[in-house]
Amino acid sequence: MKFSIAIFLASTASSTFANAFTPTSHAVGRTTGTSSALNGGMSNDVGIPCTEECALESFPNLPDSIHPGVLSGQAMMDLLQHAKDNGYAIPAVNCISSSGINACLEAAKANDAPIIIQFSSGGSQFYGGKGLDNTDYRAAIAGAVSGAFHTRTMAEQYGVPVILHTDHCSKELLPWVDGLVSASERYYKTHGEPLFSSHMIDLSEEPLEENLSICKDYLTRMEKVGLLLEMELGITGGEEDGVDNSDRPVEDLYSKPEEIYETYRELNKVSDKFTVAAAFGNVHGVYSPGNVKLDPEILNNAQKFISDKLGDKAPENKLPVSFVFHGGSGSDVADIQRSLTYGVIKMNIDTDTQWSYWEGIKNFEEKYHDYLQGQIGNPDGDDKPNKKYYDPRECMRAGEVNTVKRLEQAFSDLKCQNILGLKSAAGAKNVLGPRRGGLPV
Ligand SMILES: [Zn+2]
Repeated sequence: MKFSIAIFLASTASSTFANAFTPTSHAVGRTTGTSSALNGGMSNDVGIPCTEECALESFPNLPDSIHPGVLSGQAMMDLLQHAKDNGYAIPAVNCISSSGINACLEAAKANDAPIIIQFSSGGSQFYGGKGLDNTDYRAAIAGAVSGAFHTRTMAEQYGVPVILHTDHCSKELLPWVDGLVSASERYYKTHGEPLFSSHMIDLSEEPLEENLSICKDYLTRMEKVGLLLEMELGITGGEEDGVDNSDRPVEDLYSKPEEIYETYRELNKVSDKFTVAAAFGNVHGVYSPGNVKLDPEILNNAQKFISDKLGDKAPENKLPVSFVFHGGSGSDVADIQRSLTYGVIKMNIDTDTQWSYWEGIKNFEEKYHDYLQGQIGNPDGDDKPNKKYYDPRECMRAGEVNTVKRLEQAFSDLKCQNILGLKSAAGAKNVLGPRRGGLPV
C-alpha cells in the first residue's frame, strides 16, 4: 500500500494514476479498526468526488490503518500510540462553527499533521444555533451531530486524519453525551464505526469512587462501538465554558500518583481506549505570568509509580498512561515540551484560538474601518458601495487566516509537524482573488 501511495504522490499530475484512486477503490480498502467500514468514507457515502489526498488509503509515515478523514477504533489508537512513541502531542481545538473547523483542517494540512477537533457543550449548542430550544440539550445534541457530519465530510476533502471529540461533560451534562453516544451507536449499524471518535466525561467534581464507577459504565457502552473515553482527575483551574474553578484550594490542582494508578487499573479492566486529563497545575484561560505553576513532573512521577506497580507488565517505554493537557494557554513552551516526554498525547486549545479568530476580525476592521461604516460611501467617494468590505466572508476569512497562523505555533510547540509524510501542501488553486472581491487580510 505504501508503495502505491508513493507512486500516487509522484504522479498527481497523471490522470491515469488519479483514476486508480477513485472513491470506490478508496472505500473498499478502508477499515476503521473497529470493523470494515460498510460504506467507506463520507465522500463516497454522499457522492462527493474524492481525489488526490482525499483518496489516499494511508499516509507514508503512519501505520496503514490511519487514513484521511475521521478516525475511530483501532485506527485512532494507532495514531495516539504513534504520537506517544514519537514524542509529539496532537492539538485539540475547540470549534463552534464550520468556519472554525475549516481553519483547523487548513492548519492540519499546512502542517502535514493530524488534528483533533472538539466541541464543548456550549460550542455544540452554538453550532446548532442559539435560537433553538435547548431543553434536554436538544440543541447541543443536534449541533454536535451536525458539526460531526461537517467534520467527517470536509476532513476527507482536506486529506488529513482527524479525531472528532467532545470536551468537558460534567454530571449534569451527561444527557448531552448520552445523545451523542446514541448517535454513534446508530451510525455504527450502517457504517461499522461510530460517528464521533471520543468523548470526555469530567466528573472531577465528584468523589473518585463515583467518578470511576460512572466512567466504567460509559466506557463499557462506548467500547462496543470503538469510542474512546477521556476522563478528568483533579481540577483544572481557571474558568472555561461557564465552569469557574478559580477559587479552588491549591492541593486540588495536583493529581496524586495513587489516584492515577487506581484510575488506570480500574478503566483497563473495561478497555484500553481511555485517556486521562490529570491535574498538574494547569489552568483554563490566560492569566498574568507567574500565576500558572505548572508541574509536569507530576505526570512523570505517576508514570514511574504505575510502571513500578505493573512490573513486567509495564510497557517498554514506561509510559502506561496516555495523558491529556488541559489549560495549556499561556504555558511556557519548555514545560509543554517536557510534558510530551511524560506521555501527553493531546493538548487542548481554546482560549488562544478564540483570541486569534477575534484578532483577525479586529485587524480586518482596523484596516478597512472607513469602508465599513455604511453600505454606501467611503474615502473613495460618497457614492461608492462597500459591499465587498462588509460581506461577512471577508472578516470571517480574516479570523480563519489568523487562526491558521496561531495553530502553526501550536503544531510547532507540540512537535506535531511533518507527521503524515506528504509533501508540503501546495496553496489552494482556483480561489477567487482580490479582483473578484476577496480582500487582502
Ligand atoms: Zn479543559
